[in-house]
Parts: sequence; structure tokens; C-alpha cells
Amino acid sequence: MFEMENGMSTQEPCPLCGEGHVTEQVQEAETEYKGHKVMLPLHYKLCDHCLSDFAGTEESRRNRRVLLAFRKQVDGLLTGTEIIALRKQYGLTQVQAARLFGGGPVAFSKYENDDVAQSEAMDTLLRLVRRSTTSFWELIEEKGMSAEFMTKKPVVSARPKPVCIRLEKANENPAAAVYNPREFRQFAHGEVQCKP
Ligand SMILES: [Zn+2]
Repeated sequence: MFEMENGMSTQEPCPLCGEGHVTEQVQEAETEYKGHKVMLPLHYKLCDHCLSDFAGTEESRRNRRVLLAFRKQVDGLLTGTEIIALRKQYGLTQVQAARLFGGGPVAFSKYENDDVAQSEAMDTLLRLVRRSTTSFWELIEEKGMSAEFMTKKPVVSARPKPVCIRLEKANENPAAAVYNPREFRQFAHGEVQCKP
């Protein structure tokens, strides 16, 4: 099927006629959704022998994603690209985003690839957090995720500062050597850094 010859991959044979080979093609096609017309790239394969054109699994997936991204825009929902930007704005992984906003462990992978459209409620929450850093931190607190984001939060004077346990210091001042398991865990996980 895709045998390697001299480091070059051979052309994919046509699954319909078995004689020719197929190449990937892209063509602009007009699509309409709720009265909005747009030209979208349509991916397909074309056989050089029987001239059949068809969409394989990969082409179908691409076409579905492009179409869903367009529909999200018409429906006023954030597109996958916008959700990626929002997640990066706060340095969240997809898994953290799912824990914070809900939707299940693979939700953000699906939203961001435009495989699935997020609900209006999810979209509203994402938009609120996108425009308000305060909302983000309040949500972090609400979901009990403060500990893992402690190093990222801008330092507020009222909050306890990260503690660095240093032997010399501890010897000079025995009171500073009190073991705090919570602080130690955060330190061990790299969430709290020693100050030089
Ligand atoms: Zn063919």
C-alpha cells in the first residue's frame, strides 16, 4: 500500500479501480448555513485512471472540521483556534481546562479541533473567563485548584509567601525549620520555587 522505495513513498493506489493512483486535491466550495454563504476548502482524492473523486477518512475529518468551525462562527460560538488562545492565555493544559470548566477529559481536544461544538453555557463561561482575569482566579478557587496555580498567580502581599527550607537558615533559627507538609508537597511538585 504505502511501501517505501528509495526513501520515497509510492502513490496511494485507487481503492475503487485498483489500476490508478489517487492524489490529494483541494477545491473551494460554496457552503450555506443559516443564510450565511462562504467558500470553504473541500478536501478529496482523485484517481488518475478512473477519475473517481472521493473523500477518505482523513479528508472527511478535515472537511467536517472546517464546516463546524464556520458553523460555530455563525452561531456566535468561540472557534477551536479561539479556545486554544484562551487556554494558552492562562497557561492551562487541556486536562486542566476540562477540570476547570467541565465537559469531560477529552472535551477541549474536541472543541479545539472543531470536532464538537461547545454548549452555549460552556461558551458563555469561556468568554467570561477570557475577558476577566478576576473570574479566572475566582473559578480556580471555586474548583479547589489554587495550589497548582499558586506560582502563576500575581503575588498579593496578604498571601503567605513560598517557604524555602535551607539547612543553614534552619540552624541559625530553629523556629524556621518547622515542617509544613502542604508547602513541602508544593515544593516537591515544583509549584513553589526557592528564592535565590
Ligand atoms: Zn481509480
